[in-house]
Amino acid sequence: MSILSNCEITCHCGEVFGAELWTAVSISENPELKDTINSGMFNIVECPKCKHLFYWEIFFIYQDISSELIAYVYPKDYEGQATQYRKKMLHEFGEIVKSTKEAQNINFEPVLFFGIEDLVATLKNEDFLNDEIQIVNFIAKRIGLELIEIKPSKARNLCIPYLIPKIKKSLDCNIKDIIAGLEKLLSYNENLLEYEKLLIRIKNNPNCLDEILMHKTKK
Ligand SMILES: [Zn+2]
Repeated sequence: MSILSNCEITCHCGEVFGAELWTAVSISENPELKDTINSGMFNIVECPKCKHLFYWEIFFIYQDISSELIAYVYPKDYEGQATQYRKKMLHEFGEIVKSTKEAQNINFEPVLFFGIEDLVATLKNEDFLNDEIQIVNFIAKRIGLELIEIKPSKARNLCIPYLIPKIKKSLDCNIKDIIAGLEKLLSYNENLLEYEKLLIRIKNNPNCLDEILMHKTKK
């Protein structure tokens, strides 16, 4: 659910005024707020006295359930007490999941950010990644690659795309099929930087694949 709350703002000119600011953002309810955040227009206020426009930093929750992203965004200044805020977040989130019917299907952990910049960086990185994933989806059909799907929240933690190609249709995911899938994909389109990174990562450390495949979605 998206929530606007009444907040008391203090301008650098000394003026104190009230404004409605977002304290919860649900992307399924207000998809336009993602652009507002990315463009730096989120929670911007105007001082009625000196007309100064500025960002007023308050805690808010960002939720995009379809991308498995729930972010607790605290002010940048709180970063020194990260451990304490992580505990607080996990406790509050646990209570919400227990007490809200709609939240009971959520099977991923929230992430903690200090400052809106960290959220913006994550969203932009994800948009970039999703562009590549869309291309891969298209190419895979065309050249007959199978795609393994990783839970989006886990793929985000591991900094990898959530769709990984392999050459053969089989129930097991062996490393040779995945490396061959990535190589075939990259020989078809060499501009897929995130997939190139993934291939290098797997070749340098084949064990990392075990951790990745632990989070395969069951279809
Ligand atoms: Zn002012």
